[in-house]
Amino acid sequence: MKSWLNISDNSDFSIHNLPFGIFSVGASKKRVGVAIGEQILDLYGVTSKGLFKNKTLDKKVFLQDYLNPMMALGKSITVPLREEIQNLLVSTRSPLRKMPKLFINQKDASLHLPIKITDYTDFYSSKEHATNVGKLFRDPKNALLPNWKHLPVGYHGRASSIVVSGTDIIRPKGQTIPMGKSKPIFGPSRLMDFELETGFVIGKKSELGKPIKCNKAEEHIFGMVLFNDWSARDIQKWEYVPLGPFLGKNFASTISPWIVTLEALKPFRVQGPKQSPKVLPYLEYRGKKNFDINLDVVLETKEGIATTLSRSNFQFMYWNMSQQLAHHTVNGCNINIGDLYGSGTISGKRKNSYGSMLELTWRGTKPIKLKDGTSRKFIQDHDTIILKGYAEKKGIRVGFGEARGKILPSK
Ligand code: CA
Repeated sequence: MKSWLNISDNSDFSIHNLPFGIFSVGASKKRVGVAIGEQILDLYGVTSKGLFKNKTLDKKVFLQDYLNPMMALGKSITVPLREEIQNLLVSTRSPLRKMPKLFINQKDASLHLPIKITDYTDFYSSKEHATNVGKLFRDPKNALLPNWKHLPVGYHGRASSIVVSGTDIIRPKGQTIPMGKSKPIFGPSRLMDFELETGFVIGKKSELGKPIKCNKAEEHIFGMVLFNDWSARDIQKWEYVPLGPFLGKNFASTISPWIVTLEALKPFRVQGPKQSPKVLPYLEYRGKKNFDINLDVVLETKEGIATTLSRSNFQFMYWNMSQQLAHHTVNGCNINIGDLYGSGTISGKRKNSYGSMLELTWRGTKPIKLKDGTSRKFIQDHDTIILKGYAEKKGIRVGFGEARGKILPSK
């Protein structure tokens, strides 16, 4: 499959991808777009010109601040719609060829938070990450807690402070315990960290009291984003007992602006790791539920010198998204269109594939050397952290773009 548009072979936004996002140009109203190569196809424009076969589509669905109304149409509408867009971009006789105004250069557009996030939950589903954190904070011999292999551990996070890529992050202040002291002090976090995660977005709600079956869970998942769950380790360490993360996490999280659909990710499905002990029946699943997605973390200094900190992959996750959703709803908890679920930090087996500074520097004991000769134990003011992600197989590339955020000094 090839588009008549000029798209470079290493573009994240190939003809196979077609992720959805919200953009605006200048003072124009926010609207729904699809990323293609270096450009955005304006879907409000496409519907206004009457180019879609589905004449019952309300064009207002594409002139919105968020994707929620479009996702609410359901996959029976949005999946064929995406295929139609693909055809319009491939067919040599496409009417779009005579409508250059419907294509906007990404660099000329503002990309906005693509979804109105109704609720946000974060999981803890990478065995390597949970093991590393267990070793660092508890017992090196019994790093995993007894529940970990029986259920996807998670907690309810904060939706209000999730921001789109490119938004600056102010270093949080809070209570911390200085080394060797027993009384807390108040001030800026000294142990700012990132967490390399992916997130998935809900496009179909469920009813209160009705659990989602593991093998039906993907019907509810519209697509995926990159997700940086910024973490202040010193605040987290003091506050997290006994109820878990709070102010060490909820000051900000960053997502990438384009939602990559599960349909686009289909060629990259892989078998997940063998789960032993055997899981309870409600967590059993059939088929390939993991995805082979390469993930990189880059630190860019104030001067713009970039160093790759980590290279990981989403396929190693112990618990998959379907299991996470089945577990989340097994007690009757309902989900809504616009919910966001974080995977949990994605660490690989190798030391250069860990998904946080905490692990990469082994809690600051092994600083990372950067390209400019300086080193980091944790993130400094004016450092920018960039998450990147892409899947690639047999010449098909589907990427996520990036989730970028710069740390600014506390105010
Ligand atoms: Ca996290």
